[in-house]
Amino acid sequence: MIIEHSSNLIAKIEPIRAFQDNYIWAISNKQLLVVVDPVEAKPVFDFIKAEQVTLCAIMITHKHHDHIGGVKELLHTFPDIQIFAPKNSNLDFPFTAVKDGDSFLIKRINLHYSVLETPGHTLDHIVYLDEKNLFCGDTLFACGCGRLFEGTYEQMYSSLKKLKRLHPATKVFCAHEYTLNNIKFAMTVCKNNKLIHERYEACKDLSLTLPSSIEDELKTNPFFLAQDVDQFKEYRLKKDAF
Ligand SMILES: [Zn+2]
Repeated sequence: MIIEHSSNLIAKIEPIRAFQDNYIWAISNKQLLVVVDPVEAKPVFDFIKAEQVTLCAIMITHKHHDHIGGVKELLHTFPDIQIFAPKNSNLDFPFTAVKDGDSFLIKRINLHYSVLETPGHTLDHIVYLDEKNLFCGDTLFACGCGRLFEGTYEQMYSSLKKLKRLHPATKVFCAHEYTLNNIKFAMTVCKNNKLIHERYEACKDLSLTLPSSIEDELKTNPFFLAQDVDQFKEYRLKKDAF
């Protein structure tokens, strides 16, 4: 059950591009900024300068370097920020540990988020959620899902099942621009799905394909469309070799 928080609707969400294909999601109002998975500090500093905002919080989805690499540098410049990260993460900076079912308030900017645990890509992986938006790191991608580095196929399948139950209009903010490659793969395993072909046409000339939505994923993501864990495993193994 997600409670509507009107304050979240006032904030805008923009991508900060980093590395080759990472997105650091920037959630801001006129004065304050929250970032999700800051792989690098420099593009966040550039955003702060351009938008004239102050960083007040960081949300981390999982422990991989390409999601936390910029945290310490940001913390050095903004020592008072709140950092939220998974309870199961062993990180070398201070953070507020959050776990499945938790809700929290980022006080300075008055934003509320809920947490779901989604083990599979890593065992510590969590996602952040409000009534309209999902920040899902490397669990769910547009037309794809994260590789299994630590979890089992059963764990990832049930993590994706949790996300399938979210409201279809929920916007999906994932951490990488993998969409086009994912759609090309989807066309090989779901050959008769016309909507996947339409999605390819809609995305093929875009440099930014996100956010997606749960509805789009329910219709075209092979890992959402998999009938059972065996089919999920089959698709995941094929994608690993694609
Ligand atoms: Zn990762």
